[in-house]
Amino acid sequence: MNDTTYDVAIVGAGIVGAACAAECARSGMRVAIVEEQMIGGGATAAGMGHIVVMDDSEAQFTLTRYSQKLWEEASAELPPEVEYTKSGTIWVAADDEEMQAVAAKQAFYGARGVRVERLDAKQVAEAEPQLRPGLAGGLLVAEDAVLYPPAAAAWLISRARHEGAVLHVGRHVSEIRTGSLKLADGSRVSADSIVNATGAWAPQLAPGVQVRKRKGHLVITDRYPGFLRHQLVELGYLKKAHSVTSDSVAFNVQPRITGQILIGSSRQFDNENTNVDRHMVRAMLDRAREYMPAIGGLSAIRCWTGFRAATPDNLPVIGPSTEPGVYLATGHEGLGITTSLATGKLIADQLLGRQPAIALEPYLPARCEKGFAHV
Ligand SMILES: Cc1cc2nc3c(=O)[nH]c(=O)nc-3n(C[C@H](O)[C@H](O)[C@H](O)COP(=O)(O)OP(=O)(O)OC[C@H]3O[C@@H](n4cnc5c(N)ncnc54)[C@H](O)[C@@H]3O)c2cc1C
Repeated sequence: MNDTTYDVAIVGAGIVGAACAAECARSGMRVAIVEEQMIGGGATAAGMGHIVVMDDSEAQFTLTRYSQKLWEEASAELPPEVEYTKSGTIWVAADDEEMQAVAAKQAFYGARGVRVERLDAKQVAEAEPQLRPGLAGGLLVAEDAVLYPPAAAAWLISRARHEGAVLHVGRHVSEIRTGSLKLADGSRVSADSIVNATGAWAPQLAPGVQVRKRKGHLVITDRYPGFLRHQLVELGYLKKAHSVTSDSVAFNVQPRITGQILIGSSRQFDNENTNVDRHMVRAMLDRAREYMPAIGGLSAIRCWTGFRAATPDNLPVIGPSTEPGVYLATGHEGLGITTSLATGKLIADQLLGRQPAIALEPYLPARCEKGFAHV
C-alpha cells in the first residue's frame, strides 16, 4: 500500500474502530484505519443509538457510566447530524414485582452517583401518556441519551483524520499478524500495533476469540412528533437479553429527533442471515403494543437487521490478544454505541502505557483463556 509504518492500524470503521482511531490520533499516534465497506455501516448502522448506563454487573456499570460521561463531555462538539439528545430512559414496571426491581435499580444507581427518579403509576402515565393504563411505575434515568450512530462514527473518523489518521475504505483485511496486516490484494499495512475492531466479524481475523453473532431487528415508523418523549425499556429487558437458549423480544422504544419512533428489540443466536424474520418482527410489535397500544396505529416505514458481537460474560474484550502487538476491541453486544468512547480510551491507554481511568481487568481478552471466570 505504502512504505509507512504506523504506530497503530485499526481494522474496522464501525463506531468502536472509529473511537479507537480518534483517541489514538488525538494522543499523537500515527494511525491507519482499514475498512472493507463503509464507515459505520456494520452493526453501527443497525443499532438504536441509546447511550445507556447499565447495572448488569459492576464491570458493565463502570464501563457504561464512564462512556456515558465521555459522550456528555463530547456533546458540545458534536455536529447536529449526530442528533445527540438527552431524552433519558424510563425503565417501565408492569406490576408490583417489577416495582421491587425498580427499588433495587434505584438503590444501585443512587449508590453510584447516577441521578434517578422513581415514578409511581400516575407519574409514569404523565411522563408517557401513550403507555397503557394500569402499569405500576418506573425508574427515570435522566442522564441517558440517544444519538444517530452512523453519523457519530463518521464524526469520530473525521476527528481522527483531522489529527493525521489515514483512512482506507473498500479494503478487506484477510490476515492480521504481529507488525502488519494483509489486504485481499496481497498488499500489507505495517504497524507496531494492530487493533481488530471488526465487531461480530472479529473471529475471522482472530480465530479462537469467543465472539458470536447475535442477530437483532429494528423497525422505524413515520414521523409522529410528540408521540414519545423518553427511551422506554421494559424491566424484564436484561433477563431477556441474557437468554442464550432462546430467541427473545423486549419492549424498547426510542424517540428520534425527527419525530420517528424506533421500535426494538429482538435477539437471536444461530441465525446468521441478514433476512428480516417476520415472526420476530411480529413478536416485537406485539410486545410494543402490549405496553403502548397506540403504536399499532402508527405507520412503519422500514425494518432491518444487524449483528451484535456477543461474548459469554456479556462484557467486551478490550486489550492484547495472544498474538504480540495485536489488540482486540470487540464483543460489545448491545452496548457498543454507548461504550465506544470508553473503548477508544482504554485501547489508547494500553498502547501508550497510560494509567486508565477505570480498571482494565474485567475487559481484558486474557479472561477468555481463564474460561470467563465470572460467567
Ligand atoms: C438491533 C441492534 C440494536 C442496538 N442498539 C444499541 C443501542 O441502543 N445502544 C448501544 O450502545 N448499542 C446498541 N447496539 C450495539 C451496537 O450497535 C454495536 O455494539 C456497535 O455498533 C459495535 O460497533 P463495532 O464498531 O464494534 O462493530 P461494527 O459497527 O459492526 O463495525 C465493524 C466494522 O468492521 C468492518 N470489517 C469487518 N471485517 C473486516 C475485514 N476483514 N476487513 C476490513 N473491515 C472489516 C465491517 O465492515 C464494519 O464496518 C445495537 C445493535 C443492534 C444489532
